[in-house]
Amino acid sequence: MKCFNHYNMDAVGLCSQCQKAGCRSCLSDVGGSLLCVSCQQWAWQQEQQRAYQSRMQATLQQAETVTKAKRAIRNSWIYTILVTLLCGTVPLLELARTYPLILLGYPIYVYCIWSTYWVWKPVYQGWRKLLSGMGCFVFGSPMFVVFYLLLFTFWIPAMITGIYGPLGGGFKEYVKHRKMARSQAPLYPIQY
Ligand SMILES: [Zn+2]
Ligand SMILES: [Zn+2]
Repeated sequence: MKCFNHYNMDAVGLCSQCQKAGCRSCLSDVGGSLLCVSCQQWAWQQEQQRAYQSRMQATLQQAETVTKAKRAIRNSWIYTILVTLLCGTVPLLELARTYPLILLGYPIYVYCIWSTYWVWKPVYQGWRKLLSGMGCFVFGSPMFVVFYLLLFTFWIPAMITGIYGPLGGGFKEYVKHRKMARSQAPLYPIQY
């Protein structure tokens, strides 16, 4: 058998893509399979296309991460302002008329509200994962069922949120989101 390109040369093998017979100079081993020159070009283009698509996807994902983190940071301030104003501030100011020193505790109160914003989601997600991992059993009278459901789906994670947030969990989540919001998006991929 002769090479498809050089009629005077003996073929050394077949292209794994187009099955054409080629000589030593017309076939090359690409990743363990023989390819002719035109199929090598085709494979290279496919590879470029794949690389382009994965870069494109990474760019979009990155942009989404940044947007989400920025939104979370903005919402954390709205949440903190609303919650501190709606509950706590009025009775606190009322009390401060008699005990002015109580105002010193106000920043701590605001901090606690702010920190719980950041941890309630990871805490609830972690808690649900834990429960589904254990295979939670509920038994007893309907009243107890309601009690257990509230306890396990609401009170316990709410307690964890209230403790873990102020103890540093909130700050940790905030720093994480700040980093995400500032992370540099990769350069927009260039079309080939
Ligand atoms: Zn080929
Ligand atoms: Zn050849």
